[in-house]
Amino acid sequence: MDNTNIILSVENLCVRFKAMKSHYFEKQRYVHAVDDVSFVLPKGKSVGLVGESGSGKTTIARAIVNLLEPYSGDIKFLNKSIYSLSDNSYLDYRKKVQFIFQDPYSSLNPRYTVSEILQEPMELLKVDVSESYQTSMLKLLAAVGLREEQQYLFPHQFSGGQRQRIAIARALASKPELLICDEPVSALDVAVQAQILNLLKTLQEDFSLSYLFISHDLGVIQYMCDYVIVLYLGQIVETGVSEDLFVSPFHPYTKALLDAVPSADPREHFYVPTVECIKQPSAVDPEPGCRYANICPKALRECYSLTPELKQIGETTSVACHLYEGE
Ligand code: ADP
Ligand code: MG
Repeated sequence: MDNTNIILSVENLCVRFKAMKSHYFEKQRYVHAVDDVSFVLPKGKSVGLVGESGSGKTTIARAIVNLLEPYSGDIKFLNKSIYSLSDNSYLDYRKKVQFIFQDPYSSLNPRYTVSEILQEPMELLKVDVSESYQTSMLKLLAAVGLREEQQYLFPHQFSGGQRQRIAIARALASKPELLICDEPVSALDVAVQAQILNLLKTLQEDFSLSYLFISHDLGVIQYMCDYVIVLYLGQIVETGVSEDLFVSPFHPYTKALLDAVPSADPREHFYVPTVECIKQPSAVDPEPGCRYANICPKALRECYSLTPELKQIGETTSVACHLYEGE
């Protein structure tokens, strides 16, 4: 892909954490929370990270905003490694990449009014605004669908959905180009979820934003994203264009994820995976082999010993699975 069109690239990212010891003399083991993950995010597009809890989604997001140090690998924003930026470029990067968290209750300072919450990042990051901070703040409020007089209120005076609107406005305060949304609607009621997702879509158009969208909810990813990355225990098992991946998934894990989505049709039964694991899969000092092998209904002998590489198998699809070798 043309490099000038790429806003973010994650290259062979590995993040490890010390695993809990069960007794003092035990050898230190490591959780390979993110293991050799690479992907690119084209400008103006939405890339979705999907996978069950513990698959490494938040860890990838935290690495991108430099909240943790990777074990190895690189993260490039507009083709420059974020680890080699000068002070000025780093400040610029801090403005251009913003994070929206799952929990709008804990991510807003309860002692600040909305007006203060929105103006603080402008001051801290020395954002260039043609008008006053006050005027930009009012524009942000309008952009996220809040009323002018609500600027004087405190976070606890709002509902969950409105709080998430404040969090979104705060993220927009530094005029970002990339928004990382980590489960932004998971804490909200379904009806409110749809409003927030629609707001994010409108803002993407209005402000030419690129999104890295994290969710364990496939419906949300399908609605929001152009490209999808499916993670399992810290590794990418499948990537593809949203339209194709949801229609014809390849990896057995992606298939299981899609089957697990409850259907509105009463004739379809809920899929309840009945799995008898010999060994519970884990990312703690993993051995070679596919991490999904112990659960996979189609595992071959090599799946237990050879780690499958991510291979392109269609125009837009890549899969890490021994079932699709040699295409
Ligand atoms: P997800 O967001 O997909 O639910 P996370 O990125 O939060 O997954 O976690 C991935 C793995 O890394 C999990 O096994 C989790 O327990 C572990 N992990 C995450 N953060 C830490 C940390 N600060 N210290 C130790 N282990 C961590
Ligand atoms: Mg998470």
